[in-house]
Amino acid sequence: MTETDVIIIGAGHNGLTCAAYLAMAGLRVKVVDRRKVVGGAAVTEEFHPGFRNSVAAYTVSLLNPRIIADLRLAEHGLRIVERRAQNFLPAPDGSYLLTGEGRTRQSIARLSERDAARFDGFAHELEVIADVLRQFLLRAPPNVVEGFGAGSIREAVNALGTANILRKLTLEQQRNLLDLFTRSAGEMLDDAFESDLVKALYGFDAIVGNYASPYAAGSAYVMLHHAFGEVNGKKGVWGHAIGGMGAITQAMAKAARGHGVDIVLEASVREVIVERDRAVGVTLDTGETVRAKYVASSVNPKLLYTRLVPPDALPAEFVGRIRNWRNASGTFRMNVALNAPPSFAALPGSGDHLTAGIIIAPGLGYMDRAWQDARAQGWSREPVVEVLIPSTLDDTLCPPGQHVASLFCQHVAPELPGGRSWDDHREEVADLMIATVDQYAPGFAASVIGRQILSPLDLERQFGLLGGDIFHGALTLNQLFSARPMLGHADYRGPLKGLYHCGSGAHPGGGVTGAPGHNAARVILRDHRALFG
Ligand SMILES: Cc1cc2nc3c(=O)[nH]c(=O)nc-3n(C[C@H](O)[C@H](O)[C@H](O)COP(=O)(O)OP(=O)(O)OC[C@H]3O[C@@H](n4cnc5c(N)ncnc54)[C@H](O)[C@@H]3O)c2cc1C
Repeated sequence: MTETDVIIIGAGHNGLTCAAYLAMAGLRVKVVDRRKVVGGAAVTEEFHPGFRNSVAAYTVSLLNPRIIADLRLAEHGLRIVERRAQNFLPAPDGSYLLTGEGRTRQSIARLSERDAARFDGFAHELEVIADVLRQFLLRAPPNVVEGFGAGSIREAVNALGTANILRKLTLEQQRNLLDLFTRSAGEMLDDAFESDLVKALYGFDAIVGNYASPYAAGSAYVMLHHAFGEVNGKKGVWGHAIGGMGAITQAMAKAARGHGVDIVLEASVREVIVERDRAVGVTLDTGETVRAKYVASSVNPKLLYTRLVPPDALPAEFVGRIRNWRNASGTFRMNVALNAPPSFAALPGSGDHLTAGIIIAPGLGYMDRAWQDARAQGWSREPVVEVLIPSTLDDTLCPPGQHVASLFCQHVAPELPGGRSWDDHREEVADLMIATVDQYAPGFAASVIGRQILSPLDLERQFGLLGGDIFHGALTLNQLFSARPMLGHADYRGPLKGLYHCGSGAHPGGGVTGAPGHNAARVILRDHRALFG
C-alpha cells in the first residue's frame, strides 16, 4: 500500500495537466494509467517500421495558451507550427476550396461571389461567440445545488460572473449564441451561404466526433466547439505539434515530473475505494492499493461510475442517469505510411494545400447521407474523410521523401447493426476509406505501404474511449456546461466526497484543451485549503 495526497486515474493530457497544477501548489500527486505510455488519446507511436504518427488525436488548436505557459511546455520541448494552408476541400467536379491566411476570400469568390461577400461577416460572428466561450473554458460553469448554504452562495456568485460575461454581448449576439447552442449547423449554413464547399468547410466541424447529421439540432454547437482554439496567438487556426500529439503529453509529463509527480504506467485501476461515503484511494489490477486524500478521475464518466466505483456506494438515481450518458462519435481512425505524397485531381502536384486539413465531404447533403447510411448499414458508402499529412510540416515522423497521413473518418456506427462485430469488418472499411481518398487523389491507394486501423471498438479497447467516443461523451446540450457530466456535478466534484472529475467528461468537454484538468485542480486545491488551511 502507498499513500499520497492525490491519486489521479489516467495519464491522458487532462490527468497530467491536473497533476502538474496540484504538484505546483505543493501536493503529493500520483498518476496511474493502464497503458504503456502517457498521453491517452494524445500520443505518437510507430505504426509501421520507420513511420510514426499521432495515433488518435492528430491536430492542435484547442490546447489552452495559459496551460502551455503555466506548464512551460515550450521549455519541455513542445513546438507547435501552423499549417501553411488551413483547409482544402476538393469536389468531384474538379473545383476546390482552399482556406488560410490571405487566400480564403479569393478562393470562395471563385465558387460564389455572394458567399465571398458574406464570409467575413459569418466568420466574425462565430469568432465573437467563440471569444465568449473562451472566457468560460478555464472556469467551472454554474453548478446547480439544492438547499441554502456555502455552496449555494458560491454558485450564486459564479452565476453572476457568467451573466456578466454574457452581458457584454449585444442582444443580436445573444440571439446568435442561442442559435449556436440549439440549432443545426446545416440550417445556419444554408441560411448564410450558397456554395456546397463553403457550407462543407464549417459543416465538417459540426460532425467531427458527432455521430449525427449536420442537420441535427445542436450540431451548430459542435461547430462552435472547434472554433475556440488558437495556434501561437492566432485565433481559430489549427496547427501541428512537431513530433505529433505525443509531443504535447511528453512535455506535460516532463512538467509534472519536474514538480515531483509520480507517474506509474501499466497500472490499471480496478476499483475506487470508498469508506463512509468518501473516496479514499484506488485498488489496482495487481491488488496494490493507493490511499489518498483525493481521487481525481480523467476517464469517461460512464466508465468511472459503471465499472470502477462500487454501485452500492452511489445514489441509485445517479447510477441510473450515468448509465444513459451518451457516448457516440461515429469515428474510424487510420494512419497510413505513404511512399509518395498524394496528388489531388482538383489541384495536382505538391503545394501548401498538402499541409492543410483535406476534407473529403463536398457538401452537407453528402454528410447527411453518410450518417443515414451508417445508421442503416454500419458505415457510409461515401464516408467523410479528413486527410492530414503531418510529414509535410514535420520531418521527424518518417524517412525523407516518404510521408505519413492521418485519416479521420466519419460516419461509422459505434456498434454495428445486426450484432455484427467491428473485428470482422475493420479491414473492409479501411479499404473503403482508402478507396474514397483515391477517388479524389488517384494513385493514393497504390502509395500506401503500411496502415494502422482503429475502429470504434479498437478506440474503446486501446484508450478506454467507450463507444469510441473521442470526447468522453457527446457534446449535446444535455451533456454540456452545467450538465457535464450531470446537473449538480458540473463543479468537478462527484457524488462522493473526495472524488473529482478531471477529464473530457467534465466542462468544457473533449479535445486536447487541458481545461478540465486545470479546472479540477483548482477545485481540489480550494477544498484542500478549506480542510487543511
Ligand atoms: C480518433 C481521435 C481523434 C481526435 N482528434 C483530435 C484532434 O485532432 N484534436 C483535438 O484537440 N482533439 C482530438 N480528439 C479528442 C481528444 O484527443 C480527447 O478529447 C482528449 O485527448 C481526451 O483527453 P483526456 O485526458 O480527457 O482523456 P484520455 O486521453 O482518454 O485519457 C484517459 C486515460 O485514462 C486511462 N485509463 C482508462 N481506464 C483506466 C483505468 N481503469 N486505470 C488507469 N487508467 C485508465 C487511459 O488509458 C487514458 O490514458 C481526438 C480523439 C480521438 C479518439
